[in-house]
Amino acid sequence: MNFDTLCIHGSEVKYDRTGAVSVPIFQSSTFVHPGVGQSTGYDYSRVQNPTREHLERTLTRLENGVDALAFSSGMAALTALMELFSPGDHIIASDDLYGGSRRLFDNISGKNGLEFDFVNTSDIDKIEESIRTETKAVFVETPTNPLMQVTDIAEVSQLCKELGLLLIVDNTFLTPYFQRPLDMGADIVLHSGTKYLCGHNDTLAGFLVVSDLGLSERLRFIYKTTGACLSPFDSWLLIRGLKTLPIRIQRQQESAIKIAQWLCGHEKVRAVHYVGLPSHPNYGVSVRQASGFGAMISFELDSERTALGLLENVKIIQYAESLGGAESLITYPMHQTHADLPPELRKLKGINETLLRLSVGLECTEDLIADLEQAMEVS
Ligand SMILES: *Cc1c(COP(=O)(O)O)cnc(C)c1O
Repeated sequence: MNFDTLCIHGSEVKYDRTGAVSVPIFQSSTFVHPGVGQSTGYDYSRVQNPTREHLERTLTRLENGVDALAFSSGMAALTALMELFSPGDHIIASDDLYGGSRRLFDNISGKNGLEFDFVNTSDIDKIEESIRTETKAVFVETPTNPLMQVTDIAEVSQLCKELGLLLIVDNTFLTPYFQRPLDMGADIVLHSGTKYLCGHNDTLAGFLVVSDLGLSERLRFIYKTTGACLSPFDSWLLIRGLKTLPIRIQRQQESAIKIAQWLCGHEKVRAVHYVGLPSHPNYGVSVRQASGFGAMISFELDSERTALGLLENVKIIQYAESLGGAESLITYPMHQTHADLPPELRKLKGINETLLRLSVGLECTEDLIADLEQAMEVS
């Protein structure tokens, strides 16, 4: 079935007999047993709930996996994922990650005995150099946040398969609409469903999608044991959001390409990081492994003054964390998403006082450009 159709009819299972076109919200914590030792398939909503199951089946098909688990946030999904590992295990991760992922690895996973090396995973040699006997997994975000580095998923997956390592890909920025890591050999896909999958800046959610049943079984055990499951109502909001994912992200990308080009020509802009620009260092890999570039842009301004002025003077674009929704949002990575990174590391990476990150929403492109233009004129 075509992707767009799957977004609308992703689960073929019907959960009620009324003919309701919209999936019912089964707002029930528990389910009656028909008899001793019998089950309707649902016992307790932490384990499974019909509304959540519908969502999980849909996402499984969108990512071409064998199972998907829906969590109460992206960070809850990542926290559960880390429970696959034991003290002493070593993980190689991208050095340019969502700040919250890095905070979890440094402060929580580290305390629990996991060891990390953070490298630029767009360079496979850097991954190979970091492999030890204790290495169990490679964790990549592609494109990365906020600097838009791209990792060649198929190439890294081949290396991981040779060495028996798990390849985990955070696919939040491109979504399965543009990129399907499991098809390229990844074992697990992570999502912050809060972003494009939900698409309306109104719900937190997270997902793990897996490529084999063994992983599904292990993660399902962790899931029911630790309990950060997505509520029935939030599952319904995600089901609803997913229906328009293709048209939303297409349109957001169209605008992003125009805005990135416009930014490139602005005198106060020093650099534009957008994977859809042919000048992007990983443009070739992007074209090969993804069918689109998404709608996230980061850019460097000529001074801190311009950056602050822009943040304070935008009128349509809103200065707020998060991304992927209908409303365009602009962030200051140094002070928001990446505030917890060690300052030396931030500096090394170029996450400085002139770098802003823009999530292009669904407003009229010309209005967004006019908004950026007037905000930069004032500053
Ligand atoms: C937002 C985000 C997360 C964390 O997800 P939450 O839903 O905010 O918990 C993880 N990875 C990426 C790339 C993100 O943008």
